[in-house]
Amino acid sequence: MTGKRVLVTGAAGFLGSHLCDRFIAEGAEVIGMDNLITGDLKNIPIDYLKIPIQTLKVGSLGTHNLLGLAKAKNARILVASTSEIYGDPEEHPQKETYWGHVNPIGPRGVYDEAKRFQEAITMAYHRFHGLETRIVRIFNTYGPRMRLNDGRVLPAFIGQALRGENFTVFGDGSQTRSFCYVDDLVEGIYRLLLSDFAEPVNVGNPDEITIREFADEIVELTGAKTKIIYEDLPHDDPKKRRPDITLAKKVLGWEPKVDRSEGLRRTLAYFKTLDMDELYKKEHKHFDKFIKR
Ligand code: UDP
Repeated sequence: MTGKRVLVTGAAGFLGSHLCDRFIAEGAEVIGMDNLITGDLKNIPIDYLKIPIQTLKVGSLGTHNLLGLAKAKNARILVASTSEIYGDPEEHPQKETYWGHVNPIGPRGVYDEAKRFQEAITMAYHRFHGLETRIVRIFNTYGPRMRLNDGRVLPAFIGQALRGENFTVFGDGSQTRSFCYVDDLVEGIYRLLLSDFAEPVNVGNPDEITIREFADEIVELTGAKTKIIYEDLPHDDPKKRRPDITLAKKVLGWEPKVDRSEGLRRTLAYFKTLDMDELYKKEHKHFDKFIKR
């Protein structure tokens, strides 16, 4: 990477900041771009539900702008897609060939459909303009620097455990996810960028768990004396999710290395260094500024 310049959008967010670290370690010159709505200068979302128009615009118009920039600069572009493009999947585990089961007009559609559009416009730039494009479909990822109140399940549970609050499990907790530690994800993305593979590739950890079991693991890890309270399942919340990573293994020689117990241990160690109450209040105050209509 020495002598190469890399632009990372969303550089102040969770994954963006870890990607910057990796490119810097590889000797690249890194330019970070971020509007700091959900990012933080020190280091993103339920967030997307609070800012639905921005979510749609960044996935569609934002991607269009960056594809135009990549074309003008003759650069290679890797776009961060998501397992959300599979929606509430009817195929399990999900292979890249699956077209998905997405509700376009539900609240979650602002994210899912923007990301589907993102993939479509990226492939069009690749096919029509010959742009060098890569598409990573990122499955649930966790690790240090997640925002405490981004609405995702892991920071929610860890924050609740450390503040001595009850755990909020949505629905009956039988829905599944497959959590990937951030270092593994970054390695997969890095390899994809350097590959010559233009079709979408799943990067995630196939180790699937129910949210109820996940809550139990975090109780055990933190030693928290908390109860579980059950709340309504969000609209269109996928019932199950697990990546089929056969393609990543084949074209990238990649598979995850950090198991959940190790990844959770490292993540908890990070959150323990933070003043939870202060941070929680600060995050809310900072974010609330941006959601007034
Ligand atoms: N979830 C939960 N309690 C919380 C936050 C999330 O039970 O406080 C559930 C959520 O309904 C979903 C799963 O945990 O079934 C993962 O949610 P997350 O927002 O982390 O990721 P996504 O739904 O985008 O996969």
